[in-house]
Amino acid sequence: MSNIAVELTKHPKEKPADESKIGFGNTFTDHMFIMNYDEGEGWHDPRIVPYGPISLDPSAMCLHYGQEVFEGLKAYRTDDDHIQLFRPEENFKRLNVSNARLSIPPIDEQLCLEGLKKLVEIEKDWVPHIKDTSLYIRPFIITTDAHLGVHPGHHYLFMIILSPSGPYYAEGLDPVKIYVEKNYVRAVKGGTGMAKTAGNYASSLNAQAEAEKQNYSQVLWLDGVERKYIEEVGAMNIFFVIDGEAVTPALNGSILSGITRKSALELIRSWGMKVSERRISIDEIVEAHKNGKLDEVFGTGTAAVISPVGHLKYGDIEMEIGGNKIGPISQRLYDELTGIQWGRLPDPFGWTVRID
Ligand SMILES: *Cc1c(COP(=O)(O)O)cnc(C)c1O
Repeated sequence: MSNIAVELTKHPKEKPADESKIGFGNTFTDHMFIMNYDEGEGWHDPRIVPYGPISLDPSAMCLHYGQEVFEGLKAYRTDDDHIQLFRPEENFKRLNVSNARLSIPPIDEQLCLEGLKKLVEIEKDWVPHIKDTSLYIRPFIITTDAHLGVHPGHHYLFMIILSPSGPYYAEGLDPVKIYVEKNYVRAVKGGTGMAKTAGNYASSLNAQAEAEKQNYSQVLWLDGVERKYIEEVGAMNIFFVIDGEAVTPALNGSILSGITRKSALELIRSWGMKVSERRISIDEIVEAHKNGKLDEVFGTGTAAVISPVGHLKYGDIEMEIGGNKIGPISQRLYDELTGIQWGRLPDPFGWTVRID
């Protein structure tokens, strides 16, 4: 069906010598996937080319009005040396949800998945080998119209770039400290909270910087209207285990629908454990903690998979959770999700997609 042209680099780069020191988002591989959109023509010319700078007009609309969407997923190297993706079709589905919200023309999900597989296959030697490493995948779309004026663009660029990623937890699953944001908000219903778009992150930076100044690693956002209901963390969804039941905020239009969130819900349900998606107020969490019923708190997202929360601060209230140690539900989710992702456990849900 598709015709993805391939131009290979004549100057392949050195791969990282010490994979334990790769970190995150620092190095990029030799090739990237590009496709153009021009009004009247639609998306065209899908191609894989050497990784490198792109040329943009200084008036390119994405630089001024933030019409941009992105995705994040990973390729994993299994113990028997195959490369696989985790639910990649979900990422392209979500990219089209973001596209619809940002007035960007929809992509052909099948074609983009095919392009991604081809790119990862070409770059498979860039997927790191040591435990808990992966190849981070960043698809994104920008408007390129050379024009100042607030309206949807007529020209777009879809790209996929790849970045080898080191072990997220260099020293085991250490719980993080999180600070509940009371002044700033991330999103409101009717806004762009449910889309993965640049502006959401730009507007979160000062809250994040303030949290870091106070020695907290991330911000927990409350709803933008009443500042009462829990939404999510910077780039993670949030779960609570209260009195033996797992709860997470329902998708209400201002929360990003995480694929790790969805997978965690499906796993917990498969264990026969009680789980609900509903509105959760911060007062309910404070109360549960006071009564000794807040068993666990953890974030879910592609980067960290499961991120146990050991401390939660809300105004003057400082809560320590589970003795600042990872709890059994968090640990089991981490083990099962990473087991499936790296091919160390069977994949009963059919979530993984082999590349080679
Ligand atoms: C990407 C992201 C998540 C997590 O989504 P996953 O698909 O699980 O990686 C959660 N919240 C926000 C705001 C995000 O950008």
